[in-house]
Amino acid sequence: MSEPFDAVDVIRAKRDGGVVPEPALRWLIDAYTREYVQDAQMSAFTMAVLLNGMSREEIRVMTDAMIASGERMSFAGLGKPTADKHSTGGVGDKITLPLAPLVASFGVAVPQLSGRGLGHTGGTLDKLEAIPGWRASLTNDEMFAQMQGPVGAVICAAGSGLAPADKRLYALRDVTATVEAIPLIASSIMSKKIAEGTESLVLDVKYGSGAFMKDFAQAKELAETMVALGADSGVKTTALLTSMSTPLGLTAGNANEVRESVEVLAGGGPADVVELTLALAREMLTMSGIDEDPADALADGRAMDTWRAMIRAQHGDPDAPLPTPNETHVVRAERDGVLTRLDAYDVGIAAWRLGAGRARATDPVVHAAGVDLHAKPGDRIRAGEPLFTLNADDAGRFDRALEALAGSYEIGDTAPELDPIVRERITSA
Ligand code: URA
Repeated sequence: MSEPFDAVDVIRAKRDGGVVPEPALRWLIDAYTREYVQDAQMSAFTMAVLLNGMSREEIRVMTDAMIASGERMSFAGLGKPTADKHSTGGVGDKITLPLAPLVASFGVAVPQLSGRGLGHTGGTLDKLEAIPGWRASLTNDEMFAQMQGPVGAVICAAGSGLAPADKRLYALRDVTATVEAIPLIASSIMSKKIAEGTESLVLDVKYGSGAFMKDFAQAKELAETMVALGADSGVKTTALLTSMSTPLGLTAGNANEVRESVEVLAGGGPADVVELTLALAREMLTMSGIDEDPADALADGRAMDTWRAMIRAQHGDPDAPLPTPNETHVVRAERDGVLTRLDAYDVGIAAWRLGAGRARATDPVVHAAGVDLHAKPGDRIRAGEPLFTLNADDAGRFDRALEALAGSYEIGDTAPELDPIVRERITSA
């Protein structure tokens, strides 16, 4: 079959700062998915996008073409509203764990397709796999049945049928320094979420040292772009711009983050994790037409009951002890004062070096590995009190983790000004 376009012409148009016409852009994505357009050509194109950007219309077409590259799920037959959340990723970001059962306890179906960690950011599936027996892979039929039944929430791995163009493209961007382009990030995230078939979507777009977007203005542009893409596709979409300058909660790892999530579901847990979970839950409930306070379901045990049912439905044992580390190492404060800074990126790197994360997509993670924090910015601390506990399976991992933590915090005399957890809200709903 002869091809209607030449990849070189499309690359040249973007290289020279032009707008790629819709038929050519749709062809490029399709031909790349069919492996007619080669990685070398696509990496030249993505670099041209990174350098020259894309118009809103080009981003819309690119997203649509990536959706069209695979299957499109539909939950129309469920008979209940569907709402999902996507976070751009951070350190200690375990919010999906309490959020999905919390929202489902109000009768909303939550199709939470999640990923694994890469680099310094953790992955929801890695965290949940710390629970003995828990299974990340479900068929579409199993997913549908779990959402339709009394559990209502599913957290599982995305099947290979959703947006296959993005799978190829993301892997290519990862090795060609073209991840950090707003049009590419926005189309990558939104193609998967729109293809998944949710009616409503809340985006947790993070900024700060532990986030993809270090800078607030860039995070805001990404949020606006994704909210517009959701609106174009008929998905009610709201974005919260949230701080990732310091880790969320008091844990970064896998098993320790599950433990902290269960504390939140039991009505306790760190204030920032509770605040963000409730803020995102309120958005999901409001977009689903439910005017109730999600805090009630944390307080009265409904969210916990849904969590336990969700874990059991995926073959996990919610009562089984979580893995514990073979080795621990405590870092103590060297002076009295106030913790004025605790850097999310550095803590993420330390947790990763302890074994909580992976360097290559195929590496296993150590579920008990990670960092427990004993203080957060603004807390008063006395010399000799613990700041961090490092957890690992092998004491040989401590030195490199300690190197990452060496410059990660400051103890001063004056309480710092703290970032609000949610800085801004952008909505199309
Ligand atoms: N997450 C995604 O799914 N895609 C990106 O491009 C970046 C983060």
